[in-house]
Amino acid sequence: MADTGGSAFSQSDVDNYAARLATVRERIAAACRRAGRDPAEVRLLPISKTVPAPLLRAAYAAGMTALGENKVQEAKGKWQAMADLPLSWSIVGHLQTNKARDVARFADEFQALDSLRVAEALDRRLEVEDRTLDVFVQVNTSGEESKFGLSPDEVAAFARELPAFSRLKVKGLMTLAIFSADEARVRRCFRLLRDLRDRLRAEAPAGLSFEQLSMGMSGDFEIAIEEGATLVRVGQAIFGPRPTKDADYWPGAAGIS
Ligand SMILES: *Cc1c(COP(=O)(O)O)cnc(C)c1O
Repeated sequence: MADTGGSAFSQSDVDNYAARLATVRERIAAACRRAGRDPAEVRLLPISKTVPAPLLRAAYAAGMTALGENKVQEAKGKWQAMADLPLSWSIVGHLQTNKARDVARFADEFQALDSLRVAEALDRRLEVEDRTLDVFVQVNTSGEESKFGLSPDEVAAFARELPAFSRLKVKGLMTLAIFSADEARVRRCFRLLRDLRDRLRAEAPAGLSFEQLSMGMSGDFEIAIEEGATLVRVGQAIFGPRPTKDADYWPGAAGIS
């Protein structure tokens, strides 16, 4: 018998996820209405880090077909445990070049591209696998030293190098806003990303599309949508609080969320 990744889930897990998903979708729609935007423009990517595979089967049953993970190792384990489901995997966390091979094998999207070394490693591995990968360039919009991502003034030059990597399908920019209770400071991060995207649209090399803006998490996705997000990455608002600390994912996180 196939290993289904542990004990089975219950119908109440499915109902619970379906209800939370519906609530988040309503909040997305409300933020879109406030901003005069069409909710169809905003993709919701559930971020399933720390949620074990058996529960993610319930998430799938509740309608989640694409999942985002911060760490490649964890994503790989879940991909293997749920290979029987038509799930698509998005890696949203910093990547070491020695993990490029795994990403090239099973991921459909990588949202944290911030170095040519990683671009090169991914492109080479994708060639071997005969696959392509949707990518987002991660930008550090908060200016915090601890955050991954290119500084805003490096992005245009970086973009000019990307056509060399034919297996990478550039979709847009990604950021994490500052973790702050001060809404104006959070909003400033999102605005910066949008302005950068608008400039890239005008200057980007032919064939590269920077249309998408991946920004906004459980604590700030409504602000991100008001500032133009086309993709929000939502974990805890769907899956509940995590047992891990945010500093496990982005060094130096102050833990205000
Ligand atoms: C965990 C994570 C998220 C989701 O965070 P929540 O606060 O759970 O919504 C979004 N983006 C990245 C890069 C993450 O690692």
